[in-house]
Amino acid sequence: SDHQLDYPVSPDQMDWSPYYPAYFARTRGLPEPIDITTDPNEDMGAEAVALKKTGIVDIVDIGCGFGGLLVELGPKFSNSVILGMEIRTSVTNYVTERIHALRIQHKGQGLYQNISVIRANAMKFLPNFFQKGQLAKMFFCFPDPHFKARKHKARIISSTLASEYAYVLKPGGIVYTITDVEDLHMWMAEHFNGHELFERLTPEELAEDECVAIMATATEEGKKVERNKGEKFTACFRRLPDPEW
Ligand code: SAM
Repeated sequence: SDHQLDYPVSPDQMDWSPYYPAYFARTRGLPEPIDITTDPNEDMGAEAVALKKTGIVDIVDIGCGFGGLLVELGPKFSNSVILGMEIRTSVTNYVTERIHALRIQHKGQGLYQNISVIRANAMKFLPNFFQKGQLAKMFFCFPDPHFKARKHKARIISSTLASEYAYVLKPGGIVYTITDVEDLHMWMAEHFNGHELFERLTPEELAEDECVAIMATATEEGKKVERNKGEKFTACFRRLPDPEW
């Protein structure tokens, strides 16, 4: 249950500095932020100053699990700030530790400063975390299927949620979905296809987008499906511009 979950009242109340400390460090006395290749864990006169508290995240991995996608995307999208959202406390703690260790291991290289994880129920309050049009990419990798018809409300994608995802995505932004459960694949495709603010990417567009290949192999669940020689179903959708009235 989410009783113990904390949510910001609005995106501008969300302090991202504990999640991405390198982006908020400023060398004492200097007006400029320090380069993110400087390790904020090292005391070199850096002090944490919130330069820009809001709106820094532009890629989100919904239900990130053990963080395989975050770790893969971080160095590849070094100009992005990437957030995993995960509902399980122990898994969130594990990913936090994993990222912390990677930052230390790559000390001085600035790697993995742009990935982080937060414990959150991504089916609720997304607009509390993100402003309208803030996100460029959202990933839904191997979401829990919730097979039974009566559990459809528990599915991470529905018409209502698609509208919420459209709200936080910028026009041109992409929703990536992958699953090994064909019925869930159909369900997700149906709900985005039927939404006026999304259009499906063509097979050619999928082939050109490196994230499509990455999400199939980088996540722990994707690797498991591969080991079991299971099938993977991919569907991606572009956020269309708001209709003109
Ligand atoms: N994406 C990862 C992967 O591909 O390896 C994890 C897939 S796992 C099958 C689904 C994950 O979604 C679980 O870690 C689960 O705790 C998380 N999850 C389920 N519902 C969620 C929600 N409402 N908000 C955030 N995470 C959720």
